Amino acid sequence: MKSAVETEITKMPLLSVVIPCYNEEEVIGETIKRLKAFCSELIDLDVELIFVDDGSRDRTREYLKSFVEEDSRIRLIGFARNFGHQIAVTAGIDAACGDAVVLIDADLQDPPEVMHEMIAKWREGYDVVYGTRTERPGESAFKLSTARNFYRLLNRLSDIPIPFDTGDFRLMSRHVVDTLRAMPERDRFVRGMVSWAGFKQTALSYQRAARFAGESKYPLRKMLHFATDGILSFSTKPLQMSISLGLFSSALAFLGILYAFVVRIFTHTWVEGWAGLMIAILFLGGVQLISIGILGEYIGRIYSEVKNRPLYVVEEYLGFNQNGPEFSRSPVVKCL
Ligand code: UDP
Ligand code: MG
Repeated sequence: MKSAVETEITKMPLLSVVIPCYNEEEVIGETIKRLKAFCSELIDLDVELIFVDDGSRDRTREYLKSFVEEDSRIRLIGFARNFGHQIAVTAGIDAACGDAVVLIDADLQDPPEVMHEMIAKWREGYDVVYGTRTERPGESAFKLSTARNFYRLLNRLSDIPIPFDTGDFRLMSRHVVDTLRAMPERDRFVRGMVSWAGFKQTALSYQRAARFAGESKYPLRKMLHFATDGILSFSTKPLQMSISLGLFSSALAFLGILYAFVVRIFTHTWVEGWAGLMIAILFLGGVQLISIGILGEYIGRIYSEVKNRPLYVVEEYLGFNQNGPEFSRSPVVKCL
């Protein structure tokens, strides 16, 4: 009989693949097919596929449950409601046991086959292999240009360099995953958090495909929220900028005050200052409101951190062992 040490040595490394899904009934069947094909090509790695159902309102959950019954490598985390993509990814990372964890979208925009190259880089000793998109067919010109400008702005404001043209499609080693698990913040901008963690990181360029079916689950409102999280979680420069803006407008206002005095004392046309007065009031009012708004955004975030609610609520864990995953931030854990 093998000793415990020998068994440990001969055990194959485990790869966890985390797939967040929200209303993806149209693509999920094809996704599982492609992922299974990918798994069958792996000869020296065990795989677990962790699907996170982010409170879908279509039949995604039903489909996922049937996959869990068929295949012991498939696990399901079912959220009690929609918590958002970044939180879904976090729950998957929390539950993953793998020596490496890959994050991949359910809509097949990130081709599963690219994971082979990511694994090769990981074996070379890299801790993070992030996918850089060379082409993005099927995306609107508006999305492409806003994304480009957003990353430019983010890098200007943030002290941590965050790579351009990357999504969350990436492989992370256990070191990085453990670092992410230790990060309790609520407003999660996972790609920035991975950059922050450090370790040996490298890029891998790949061609991003068009969505296999269905529509983007990121409407403009969610994109704006995501972009604000990215900037406010990684920089306090907007606060400093509001101080500079305040100083600048005070200097202008000071000149205006001098002018008003001069006109009042040395001329007889002082009633005619109305336009200048209105401009000064409106300008200062605008600057003040912007500054208060920026402060409000930060304070709102502090408030939600202080409440310290769990990050997500899991309705069911399926396909895990009796006790569920070893780590979860959810208060409700039911296992089957
Ligand atoms: N997603 C999610 N929760 C959400 C929105 C999206 O889990 O609230 C998932 C979605 O199912 C997909 C991934 O996140 O697997 C990326 O979303 P999508 O493809 O809609 O974004 P896009 O590629 O258009 O930026
Ligand atoms: Mg997509």
